[in-house]
Amino acid sequence: MRTVTPTIGVLALQGDVREHVHALESVGATAVGVRRASELDAVDALVIPGGESTTIDKLLRAFDLFEPIRTRLRDGMPAYGSCAGMILLADRVIGGIEGQQTLGGVDVTVRRNAFGRQVDSFETDLAIEGVEGSLHAVFIRAPWVEEVGPAARVVGRVESGPAAGRIVAVRQGPLLVTSFHPEVTGDTRVHQSFVQIVRESL
Ligand code: GLN
Repeated sequence: MRTVTPTIGVLALQGDVREHVHALESVGATAVGVRRASELDAVDALVIPGGESTTIDKLLRAFDLFEPIRTRLRDGMPAYGSCAGMILLADRVIGGIEGQQTLGGVDVTVRRNAFGRQVDSFETDLAIEGVEGSLHAVFIRAPWVEEVGPAARVVGRVESGPAAGRIVAVRQGPLLVTSFHPEVTGDTRVHQSFVQIVRESL
């Protein structure tokens, strides 16, 4: 394993930025907030937090970050998106608002607010590839992955309850997306596996 310390940006326009910064730092990365293109230039990888994908989409364009991030993604920058971040990294969205765009990169179709009103937010244990043992997954008005294209690989599904079988974690090269929020549980294993993806890309 390489011991180099990667610098990982956390998109800091909206959402739970601080929790991701803490999680990344606790697994040996240097984490910095990214609000402008010059800050993006200085990072090896990017985390896109949960929040509201429609708002983050608008802010990305208002802050002139939309195209610079797309360019970095096309050039192979590793990225991890949780919840709204998953939506922003998806190539296709169902249930988006008029004019909603995504950065794209992961060959999936996601459905926004997929779990329905009754189960707006829920928690369950599940396993994802690349993380040993089971994880406590917290879903908050989360999307699920409705279709997976040939370039993407399913790495996690809901394992029990009414949503059993739903795809909630996908990997495509250096891109990782999860429907759930590992940054709120204090369990840093998903961040650790992303830091390992970043190290392998350096
Ligand atoms: N429902 C939100 C959206 O569509 C995502 C919720 C979240 O990130 N917790 O962007």
